[in-house]
Parts: sequence; structure tokens; C-alpha cells
Amino acid sequence: MPSPLLRWGLVLLVCLLAPVGFAKEVKVRKSKAKLPRLVRIHTGHRLHRDAAAAFERMAEEARAAGQPLLVTSGWRSYQQQRYLWRRYRQGLGPKAALPGLSNHNRGLAVDLVVGSEEVSPTYDWLAGNACRFGFRRTVASEPWHWEYRPRSTPGPQDGEDCLGRPVNVEPAPAVVRHDAS
Ligand SMILES: [Zn+2]
Repeated sequence: MPSPLLRWGLVLLVCLLAPVGFAKEVKVRKSKAKLPRLVRIHTGHRLHRDAAAAFERMAEEARAAGQPLLVTSGWRSYQQQRYLWRRYRQGLGPKAALPGLSNHNRGLAVDLVVGSEEVSPTYDWLAGNACRFGFRRTVASEPWHWEYRPRSTPGPQDGEDCLGRPVNVEPAPAVVRHDAS
């Protein structure tokens, strides 16, 4: 049997060391939580998994409408954003947010080839349809930059597109059942 003194010594030691171990675990969890849950979309770019799922649905519809969406940027690491921000500060690149402040760093923003004049057919398709998938523009000077913000992006009214233009709704074709015999 260990002496009472030794026992109390052990208890004291455990009490002293436990918070250290706990703190380490919390630190690890926090650093992992900072990384968004990223998945690759069909273009090879990465997005937050919710944004990715919505984007793939949108891209599929756009493609079917004859407006394939070309992605130039999705998720960016802190280092990539820092590089772009420095280029911007040096007057060598387009406007870029501070590292950590861009929604590209959270995997919630996507840059698309739309034509900067906002008159291209692809831009027109996005303006009329992106809200149905939770995407919208957030930077007035960047028609190519679209963000996934489903909570603050209202969908269109019935019979209208995202710009309030009437949509020609064709009646759904009757389902013909072919029973297997
Ligand atoms: Zn962007």
C-alpha cells in the first residue's frame, strides 16, 4: 500500500496535469474547426461542401440551358489570399480582400467567367437563376464573384426569375408508366 502522502501526491499531480491535457485537446479541436469542410467540384476547384452541392446543381442547370459555368477561383488558402492581397496592394493584381476576410477563404465564394460588362448570356442566366440555388453577387465591382448565402438570398416569386422577370412555365409532361412484364 502506498503511503497516504504518496497517494495525495499522485492526486495532486493528476489535478495539475489534467487541465494541460484538456487545453491541448481544445486547441487541436479549435484549429480543426477553422478549416471549412471542403469538397472538390467537377471543375477541380474546392468549395465548402454545402456551397459545392448547391453549385453543382446550379452548374448542371446552367449547362442544360446552354450556359456552362467556367470557374476561375473557388476556395483559397490563407496563403493564396495573402499573395493576391499583396499583389493588389502593389498595384499588380485585381482587388483582393485581406487574408481571412474573403469568403473564398471559407469556401463560400466562387469566381465565374461572365464577361465584365454584365451583358453576357452567362451573366444574364446567373442574374436570373442563381438565387434559386442560394448564390448572389456581393461585390458591386465584381460581376464574376458569386457567394453562397442561402439564408439571406430570397428565392424568386412564383412565375418569376431572380430579377422578377416572368418565366414561361411549361406544363410538366405527363408521366407515362411502362410496367415491366
Ligand atoms: Zn471572388
